[in-house]
Amino acid sequence: MENGYPILVVDDDPVTRKLLERYLKKSNYQVELAANGKEALQIYSRRFFPIVITDWMMPEINGPELCRRIRRQNSDNYVFIIMVTARKSKDDIVSGLESGADDYLTKPVHHAELLARIKTGIRIIQLERSLRRANAEIRMLSITDPLTGCYNRLYLNERLPQELRRIQRYGRTLSLVMADIDFFKKVNDTHGHQAGDDVLRSFGTLLHGSVREGVDWVVRYGGEEFLLVLPETDCAGAYMVAERLRRDLEGQAINHNGQIIRVTASFGGTCILPRKSSIHPNAHQLIEFADNLLYLAKERGRNRSLVEVYSQNAPPNCGCKAAAEGK
Ligand code: GH3
Ligand code: MG
Ligand code: MG
Repeated sequence: MENGYPILVVDDDPVTRKLLERYLKKSNYQVELAANGKEALQIYSRRFFPIVITDWMMPEINGPELCRRIRRQNSDNYVFIIMVTARKSKDDIVSGLESGADDYLTKPVHHAELLARIKTGIRIIQLERSLRRANAEIRMLSITDPLTGCYNRLYLNERLPQELRRIQRYGRTLSLVMADIDFFKKVNDTHGHQAGDDVLRSFGTLLHGSVREGVDWVVRYGGEEFLLVLPETDCAGAYMVAERLRRDLEGQAINHNGQIIRVTASFGGTCILPRKSSIHPNAHQLIEFADNLLYLAKERGRNRSLVEVYSQNAPPNCGCKAAAEGK
């Protein structure tokens, strides 16, 4: 398992370098050599090494300083650093470890011992990688809705305020579109809850597939209510997105165990215009505004989209006129 791990060997003594290289290569490690800390950092900036074996005393940048600089780089992956030193006093060893080394060996290096220490390092690296993967999976589960794969409210509460701070700071625009399936309760009542779940899944897939990857994002806001967040999108763009989705859903035949189910949805959207610095709605106000337009769309007969520029003074549920109305 340890074979093939790339190791960076740093030593100003060419004989030690060559000996280590030969020995490590015989054990099937990939080895790169550097004559001092400065050269090591240059190599390291081009390529990542999970294991670094470094001499202590070197010109330019010495071993402890190299450790400190590698640690400061905050790489995504852990680097296991073994310091090789002729210095044997406890104070020297403590200061080497405090500079960021994980382990140390005293010269002359006993090769079998070095291999054993490398194996310890590899176990730590592997443990760290599996912890990192597990954390990423837990994080993903904690912010995702399991039924539809869309983000959940937890993610919305984290991310939307960040987006709003960014657009306010840089004078950018952003739109929100709230989508709600029409008469969804009837789907459950007529075809059963499983069929309802299939409809939700396929609506989630439609939403995901229709927005710009890596820019827009979709949240399952409630049971059959979804929120689209569209950065760098004005009202006309948001209206276009909503209408495209509305038409696509209207034309979609959802297959549940051979039964064909058709549904429609209503959309309410709003946008913040750039450089309207006097109006800084928070996430809650913006969502509420889009939600009010959604319910206006429901009142006006469903299967339609209403999108309007956000304004503090004219909540759309108080009889204001929708700027853009579909259908
Ligand atoms: P409207 O057009 O006014 O939106 O009517 P509606 O029937 O879609 O809305 P209503 O709020 O009355 O009903 C929503 C239903 O969605 C009720 C609830 O049982 C159902 N629901 C919520 N979450 C899920 C889910 O995860 N799966 C299924 N199958 N149904 C769900
Ligand atoms: Mg509904
Ligand atoms: Mg609803």
